[in-house]
Order: sequence, then structure tokens, then C-alpha cells
Amino acid sequence: MRQTKTYEELLEELEDLSFQLKEANETIHAIRTGQIDALVVETEDGPQLYTLKSADHTYRVFIEKMKEGAVTLNSKGIILYCNSQFADMINMPLAKVIGLPIMNFIPDQYKSRFKKITEQGWGSDSKGEIFLKNKNGDPVPFLLSVTSLELYEGTALSIILTDLSLQKENEKQLELKNRQLEEAKLAAYKMNEELESIVEERTKDLLVSREYFKFLADNIPVIIWTAGVDGKLDYVNRRWVEYTGFDVEESKTKQAELLHPDDMERSVMGWQTALQEKRKYEGEFRLKRITDGTYRWHSSQAIPFKDEQGNITAWIGTNIDIHDQKKELEKKDEFIGVASHELKTPLTSLKGYIQLMEFQENLSDTAKIYVSKATSSVNKLQHLIDELLDASKIKAGKLKFNKEELNLTDLISLCIENSTYIYPLHQIKKELQGEIIVCGNAERLEQVLMNLINNAVKYSPNRKEIIIRAEKDKDSAVVSVIDFGIGMAKADEELIFERFYRANGHESTMPGLGMGLYISSEIIKEHNGEIHVRSKLNEGSVFSFSLPLVAHKPDQENK
Ligand code: ADP
Repeated sequence: MRQTKTYEELLEELEDLSFQLKEANETIHAIRTGQIDALVVETEDGPQLYTLKSADHTYRVFIEKMKEGAVTLNSKGIILYCNSQFADMINMPLAKVIGLPIMNFIPDQYKSRFKKITEQGWGSDSKGEIFLKNKNGDPVPFLLSVTSLELYEGTALSIILTDLSLQKENEKQLELKNRQLEEAKLAAYKMNEELESIVEERTKDLLVSREYFKFLADNIPVIIWTAGVDGKLDYVNRRWVEYTGFDVEESKTKQAELLHPDDMERSVMGWQTALQEKRKYEGEFRLKRITDGTYRWHSSQAIPFKDEQGNITAWIGTNIDIHDQKKELEKKDEFIGVASHELKTPLTSLKGYIQLMEFQENLSDTAKIYVSKATSSVNKLQHLIDELLDASKIKAGKLKFNKEELNLTDLISLCIENSTYIYPLHQIKKELQGEIIVCGNAERLEQVLMNLINNAVKYSPNRKEIIIRAEKDKDSAVVSVIDFGIGMAKADEELIFERFYRANGHESTMPGLGMGLYISSEIIKEHNGEIHVRSKLNEGSVFSFSLPLVAHKPDQENK
């Protein structure tokens, strides 16, 4: 009969079995991880030793396949077994290694450390790092994993050596990367701090410059305003508010109350064109002053403000009160008009009397010379008075004349012929391209030509050659008067056609009023043409004007 076991017995048995299972598991783990090179197994026939010597082939192959070095030592530190990786590490043939003291292969400075690790390994598993020399004699870091083994022959020590160089290298790289990361983080932090302080400073600067601009804009005696890309006002300075009585919001809708009705259409059109063509606006108009309700003339300018890409982001405008100057100029023009008109009558009779004297038969030679000098002076005076009269007519918008089809080539030839009589010492060459027909006023065009020829002579004191050229260019006739005289600076070229403007400080050196070119340019404008100058100081000038050609009528060509 089977005897039933007590609870305590069963518990004991269970504990025994658990212990055996644990041992078996550990052994399997040790075999798997290659920590041992021999093992003792308790069998029914007593303990059995499984060593390499006992030809456990599988185990030997397994150990050989490991990439780690494996060594078994006896208690005296003699190598009982090692795998070929270890032999390789210490650069010796496998057969010769067995039986040698392991200390032979440990560099002096690591001997005591090695001893400590292995001594500890006899008691319990121990680990530690040392350096061994590789084939080339270079130190290589190794991790030693030491375990004691109970072999049949006695207790032995198993050491597994893992090459740490790759791991160390990785660690080094990681450390380096970490350091670089830290440095980069530090640099970024610094940059951020700098950026923050720059932004702070710029914001402060911006605030200061905005306040500064506002202060400046509010305290100069000029109206200043700004508008958006659409041309709508978005800022006006204090002077604007004081002058018009409107703030920026009110001003947007009060255009009709601000501008003089006669200036409205012209000014609005000019502003719209500047906005469309994205270029500077310039104009003059009358603005109503709130304090007395009078309209005063203002000269206005608006400049487009562009970003780096050249896109307009705003318009900045100024209106300058020119009312008083304009009135002064008007008075001056009025005086010039009246004076020249009044001078014309006595001058005409003076000219008549001189002519009568010229025809006197019994004039002495001296008297004849005086009469001829008086004629020349009176002619000069008449020329000046005519210029003044023309200029005041232009200002009053009264320079009107009839135009008819005319042969420009013939007109130029006539002027050249006259000039050769007036200036017999000059060579006036003509370069005329065929027959040129334009629609114009012969008398006024002759006036322009003669003015250009007179100037060419007057401003070429040392050069006697003048060329007059006429050619067709597409739909225009282009007439050029070329001289090789004193010329003028680039800056003068723009201003030369303005009233009373004289270049090169000619006010004191050459006679003249600075009116001829102004009148000529107005005459050409009246003909729908253009006048220009190209000049070089001390080399000469080319004055050219263009006039629209009269289109050929096909029925005339067939005649
Ligand atoms: P004026 O000759 O009476 O001064 P204009 O209006 O004809 O008046 O000319 C204006 C100015 O232009 C002159 O004072 C002179 O400085 C300059 N000018 C005109 N023609 C020439 C030229 N051919 N060469 C150099 N300067 C010239």
C-alpha cells in the first residue's frame, strides 16, 4: 500500500525539486551564454564530468563560435583552456597558451586590477574592465566576466573577455556628439539672447524714430501726409489739420471741400496717373484754408516708398504753400507783359525814324556809321522786347498761332542762307535728308531755328563750324543744330529750357536773358514736338527738336 505523505514532507520535496529546477535552469543559461567550459552533472551512477576533455563536441564548437575570448583558470591562475579568439587576442598559438599563467598576458599596470577581479570571481560572479595589448601592441579595452565553476577536478574560474573597443569608440563618439550638442545648444541660447536684445533695441529705436518723425513732421512749416498703396490718406501732420481743419479720417471724404473747383479734375487725374504708373506725383493746386476760407496755391509732391523687391508700400507726400511766391511771379509777369508792350510802340517809331535817317541823301560818313550802329542796337532791343512779349504771352496761355503744311527743308535752307549773311565768318554746313513736310507755323519755326543757330554761334567763340541736320525718324522729322563750342554740364541740360535759366554762369559773361530756349521749347510743344539737348563741357552741344511728319496722302502720291 502506498503510504500517504504528510504536508511537511510534500513541502520539503517541493523545495528540493524547485532547487533542482533552478540549478538546471542556471546550467542551461550558463551553457547558452558560454560562461563555462565544463560542467558536472549528478547522475544515478554518481557525478559525471562534462569537460572539453570529455569531448563534448557541441559545447566546444559553441565556444569556438563566440566572438568573445573564453579562458578557464585553475586556482593558481594557470590556463586550463582557452578558445582560439583568446589565443588570437594575445597573439599566440592556441596549443601554447594552455598551461601558461594568465598573468603572462596581463600588462603590468593592470595586474593588480586583474587580480582583484579574479579573486572576487572565486566567491561570486564579478566584472571589471582592463586593457590588453592587441597584435600590434596597442592597448584594447576588455570587459572581464568572471564566474567560478565547480568541475570534477576541482573549482575552476571561467573568464569571458569582451572587446569593448567598438563600444568605447561609440561611447566616445556619443560623448563628442553630446558635447557638440551642448555647445550648439549654448550657442543657440546665446544667439537667442543676442537676438532678443537686438529686437528690444530695434523696437526701442523704432519707437524713438517714430516719435522723432512725428515730432519733425508736426513742427515743420510744410504739410506732410502719407497714403497707402491704394492712394488713400492714412496720416496727416499737425500742419495739415491746422490748415484744412480736418483730421485724417475726415480728409479722406472731404476732397471736394479742400480743393479749388478749377483744380479738381486736373489734380485728381494727375494723382490717379501717378498711382497707376507707380511714379512720383508733382502738381500745383489751390487748397482751402479753414481759418479764412481762402484758397492758397500749394506745390505738391508724392514719392512712392518701395520695399526691397521694388513693390510700392506707401506714398509720402508734401504740400508747400507757394501762394505768395506765385502771386509775386504773376505780378512780375504782368509787369513784364505791360512794360514790353508799352516799350514796343516807342521802339517802332524809333526804328522808323532811324530808317528815315538812313535814306537821307546828304548824310556824312560819320553820321552813316552812327545810323548803322543805332539800327543794330535798336534791332537787339527789339529782339529782347519780342522775347519778353512772347514769354508773357506763354505765361498767359496766349501763345497761339496758325499752322499749315510746310516744307521744313526749304525753311531750314532759308535760315541757313540768312545766317551766312549774319555770320559770314562761320561755316554753316547743311545735311538735309530729302523733302520733309510738317504742319506748323513757318514764322515760329524760323524763330526756333534762328535762336538755335544764334546760340550755336554765340556759345562757340573759338570754333567756326556749325552743322544743321534734318532727317526723318519713323513718324517724325528731327532737326539738329550741332556746334563744337563751350558746351554745358549734365546738370544744366535738364534746366536749360526753363525761363531765365542760364548755364555756366553766363549771366555776367554773355549777353542774354535766358528766354530764347524757353520760348523755343514752348513753340515746339505747341507743334506737338519735343526738344532736347545733348552736350559736353568744352566739346560742344547738339540741340534737336522733333516734329510730327505729315502723313502721305495716297491719292496725292498717285497723281
Ligand atoms: P540766352 O542765350 O539769352 O542766355 P537761351 O534761353 O537761348 O538764352 O539759352 C539759355 C542758356 O543756355 C544760355 O545762357 C547758355 O548758358 C545755354 N546755351 C544755350 N545754347 C547753348 C549752346 N549752343 N552751347 C552752350 N550753351 C548754350
